Amino acid sequence: MYSGAIGDDTEFGFFKSTDPKNAPGEAVYVTQFETTGARLLFPCFDEPDYKATFEIMVYKPKSWVALSNTMSVKTIDVGNGYEAVFFEKTEIMSTYLLAIGIGDLVGVQGFTSDGILTRIWSYRSGKGQLEAALKSAIRCTDAMTKYTNYQLPLKKIDHLAIPLFLGGMENFGLIVYSGNFLLLNPNDTNTQNQLYSWMLMTSVICHELSHHWFGDVVTNKWWGDIFLHEGFADFFENKAMALAYPKEKDLMVRLIKL
Ligand SMILES: [Zn+2]
Repeated sequence: MYSGAIGDDTEFGFFKSTDPKNAPGEAVYVTQFETTGARLLFPCFDEPDYKATFEIMVYKPKSWVALSNTMSVKTIDVGNGYEAVFFEKTEIMSTYLLAIGIGDLVGVQGFTSDGILTRIWSYRSGKGQLEAALKSAIRCTDAMTKYTNYQLPLKKIDHLAIPLFLGGMENFGLIVYSGNFLLLNPNDTNTQNQLYSWMLMTSVICHELSHHWFGDVVTNKWWGDIFLHEGFADFFENKAMALAYPKEKDLMVRLIKL
C-alpha cells in the first residue's frame, strides 16, 4: 500500500483546482496523470503498456464527495470529521487513466440504455447547470456502444467539472473537464451562443467518451503512438454527435460552416 500528498502544481499530478475569476471560493482536489503524473502520487511502472488493477482509498472530510474510476464500496468514519472511502478494484488499465476527484460537489445522475450509471458532478456554483451535460453524456455513451457493438466494462462513468483545466481528460470511468466546457452559462440568453456552447460541451463529452473505446480499453503501447487514440477521438467526437443527435445533425453542420 502506498500513500501520496497533494502537490503544488496546478494542473498535473494530484492538485487543487481553483479559478478565483470564474469560480471564486471554489476548489476541487483532482488528479491529472497523463502522461507521467501517476508516479507523483505513488510508485508504479508509469507507462501505458504496463496495465494493472488498482484499489484506491481516499481520506476526506465527511461532507465532501470523493470520486475515483470505480464505485465506492465502503466508508469508514476515522474521526475528527473525516472518513475513509474505499473504491472497487478497477479493471485492468494504464496508470495514466487513474483518477481521483474530491470536493464539496453537487451532482445529477441517470442511466444509459445498458444500465451504466452516468453522473455529472460540479463544484457548488455549478448547481442547476448539470442536466444538459447529463443528457448529452447518456446519448453519446449509448451511440458509441451501439455503433461499436462493444459495451464498456464499467458500472458507472462520472463526468466531473473542476474550476480550471486545459480541456478534458478521459480517465477510465471518471472524466474530468474544465467547468467552462461542461457547464452551460445560464446567463447567456443569446440563442446562437447557447447553441454553440451546447455543441462545444457535447463535442468534448463525445471526444472524452470516445477515448473510453479508443485509448482506455485499447491503448497505445507508447506515447509516440498517441496520434492513434487522439485521431480516433477527434473523428468520433463528430461521428458520435451525429449518431446521438441525428435530427439536429444538419443544423449543427450549418452552424459549423457559419
Ligand atoms: Zn483526446
